[in-house]
Amino acid sequence: MMKFLKKEGEAMIQFQNEYIMVFQSALFQTTCTVVDAKDFVLVVDPNWLPHEIEEIKQYVAQIQGEKELYLLFTHGDFDHVIGYKAFPGAKVIASKGLKEHPNKAEKVGLIQQFYNENYIKIPYPIVFPEVDIVIEKDVQQLKIGGTAITFYLSPGHTHDGLFTLIEPEGIWIAGDYLSDFELPFIYDSAKAYEETLRKAEEILEKHNVSVLVPGHGHATTSKEEIKRRIHLAEDYLERLITAVKNEDSEAMDALEKEMAFPSNFTKNCHKDNVRIIRREYITE
Ligand SMILES: [Zn+2]
Repeated sequence: MMKFLKKEGEAMIQFQNEYIMVFQSALFQTTCTVVDAKDFVLVVDPNWLPHEIEEIKQYVAQIQGEKELYLLFTHGDFDHVIGYKAFPGAKVIASKGLKEHPNKAEKVGLIQQFYNENYIKIPYPIVFPEVDIVIEKDVQQLKIGGTAITFYLSPGHTHDGLFTLIEPEGIWIAGDYLSDFELPFIYDSAKAYEETLRKAEEILEKHNVSVLVPGHGHATTSKEEIKRRIHLAEDYLERLITAVKNEDSEAMDALEKEMAFPSNFTKNCHKDNVRIIRREYITE
């Protein structure tokens, strides 16, 4: 299958194989995966900057032909849904949690704020996604032609996360889990996060994974590397939970310092992590 091959390292291209092109934004190493399957094209979390989304659109226009276009949102965080209206007419896939998101207006407000803070003219209407295909449970499947897309709910980071497995191509779209460098950010539940990591181990056993793409950071084709990432997150959470249970502020500070790209952003993420662990492991 010969297509409009771009070179890795070129502008936004982070990874490609016969079936997928992974675009990486200049911001937060956020990925957007475009899957060119036999019977459809799937775009995942198109983001962030207008010219970046434009590049993704142009690529999709080159490969789409007569194929139907699907848009998948891995979860409802504003950086992942920012490009929704850039693909009008696409069939939208997301979890029930995203469809019924309790803070849609807040997410839309964050997108507006992002554009204004950076003097970016708003390129598309800012709207929280309307969902056409709703994922409600683990192992829910969508079959399109010869391709099977299997979904698993992945709460913890947010309540509305999804793991997506595309077979036979062997693609695992992980959303904001299993990054090569970003440690767990818990906005939803530490207990759910741990459960989701256990689910990740099972998925790796059950499915034929040839490439995993995280929401932030690098795709990997190595099973060993995927295992390393699962254990990295498990180990970090375990040590953080222990530190919080023991009210060990020295250990908590050290864990904050393990985060890559230390900033006010990671400081706040760490505070949220601690607050949620306290709520779940101490108050209850
Ligand atoms: Zn994200």
